[in-house]
This record gives sequence, structure tokens and C-alpha cells, in this order.
Amino acid sequence: LYLDRPLGPMQAVAVDGPQAHYLFAVMRLEVGASVELFNGRDGSWSATVQKAGKRNGELLCQSQSAPQRNPPDLWLIFAPIKKARTDFIVEKAAELGVARILPVQTDHTNSERIRQDRLQAHAIGAAEQCGGNFVAAVTDLTSLSRLLDGWDPARRILWADESRAGPAETLAGLPAGPWAILIGPEGGFSAAERARLAQLPFVDPVSLGPRILRADTAAVAAISLWQAALGD
Ligand code: SAM
Repeated sequence: LYLDRPLGPMQAVAVDGPQAHYLFAVMRLEVGASVELFNGRDGSWSATVQKAGKRNGELLCQSQSAPQRNPPDLWLIFAPIKKARTDFIVEKAAELGVARILPVQTDHTNSERIRQDRLQAHAIGAAEQCGGNFVAAVTDLTSLSRLLDGWDPARRILWADESRAGPAETLAGLPAGPWAILIGPEGGFSAAERARLAQLPFVDPVSLGPRILRADTAAVAAISLWQAALGD
């Protein structure tokens, strides 16, 4: 269970709100029951229920069950699409070990806004489900142009460029280190975006194969390709 609370040896952890409802009403945990906790910073901890109420309770951390495992230094930059598919991209990116998820508006992006809190909850749910003990951070919507203006070139960008449609390329030979994957909107990148990306020295274009993939499919394909070549 993800709890944004300090975790440590013999640390008492107060639980309320939706987590208390889940533990004590849905799971019906009673005093003495054990729970696995993580907060994304201090590794995973085994804890026991000390107090169990309908709307709140208390857990006590006993022992660390796994050290803090930081994700490979991979980010995903993507243009939001329809709500359900945007949720899917965030959830799959979090499951596949992306550390930071950056929604960006591009020239052809339809969605003008996102619910950052809802997307962050999807990333937390994915971490709980996949047993990761870190939580992908979802940032607020910005524009691709502004993001590139302030980009730290030490982090290379793997640009999934559908116009390179050809055999899917392996990433062998690309340097290890901090990376970001860039996926465009359903309408693809504009000519102006393409021209700008093509001349940025820290951008490496990649083909994901001869077929045009939906943005959510492309995100999963690109992250998996990266993980196979450079990930953990
Ligand atoms: N409007 C574009 C077109 O019809 O040519 C399609 C855009 S595609 C639906 C959404 C995004 O997925 C693209 O911007 C790109 O980032 C990625 N993508 C899709 N297919 C790809 C491929 N074969 N190679 C590389 N990237 C791809």
C-alpha cells in the first residue's frame, strides 16, 4: 500500500481517508494483521495493524522488506489524447518503470487540459499493483516548445518519429544515462516541431516499425524497447 508518510523502524503510521477505508472496511484487516507499505522514498516496510477503525487506524512499521529501489532514469514526454487512453499511457509507463511522466501540448494536441491529480493516482495504483517501491511523478501540462526551451541536454530524448516508418530500430549503441522518450499526439508532430526536433543535438529519432501505432501503443512499445536496451 502506498502511504505518503515517513516510514522507518518502529515508526507508527496513522491511516485515514481512502487508505483506511480500503484496509479496514474493504480488506477488513484487524489488529495484528500485517501490511506492506511504501512511500516511494524509504523502500518497502512490513507493518502490523495496531488500531483498526472504520475511518482511521494506526500501523506500526516492523522491518524493512525491500531497500529503496530507484527506477532507471527514464522519463516519458507524451501528448495527452482521449482521457481513457491517457490514463492507460500513465498506468503502463508507471508499470514499465518510468520515473517521471510529462504531459505536453503540441501543435496537433486535441486535449487542452489534464487532471494531474487523477493521473498521479493512476501512477500510484500502478506502483502498488506492480510491486515497484517508487512512484512515477506526473507533472502538470506544459507545452513541448517550452519544455524544449528549458531542457537539460544531459538528458537525451528518444523521439518516436512516425515519419521514419521502417523496421523497428534497436537502441543498441545509444549511451546509458538519463533519457526521455517523446511520443506525439494522434495527429502526429507538426512540420515545425519536426524541424526543431531534427536539429537538436540531444534528440535521437527512432522508428517503432513500418506501421503507424496509436500514441498509447507507441508509448508502451518505445518504453519496452528502451528497457530492453538500456533499462533495469
Ligand atoms: N498522425 C500520424 C500519422 O498518421 O502519420 C500518426 C501519429 S501516431 C498516431 C502518434 C505518435 O505515436 C507519433 O507521433 C509517434 O510519436 C508515435 N508513433 C506511431 N507510430 C510510430 C512508428 N512506426 N515509429 C515511431 N513512432 C511512432
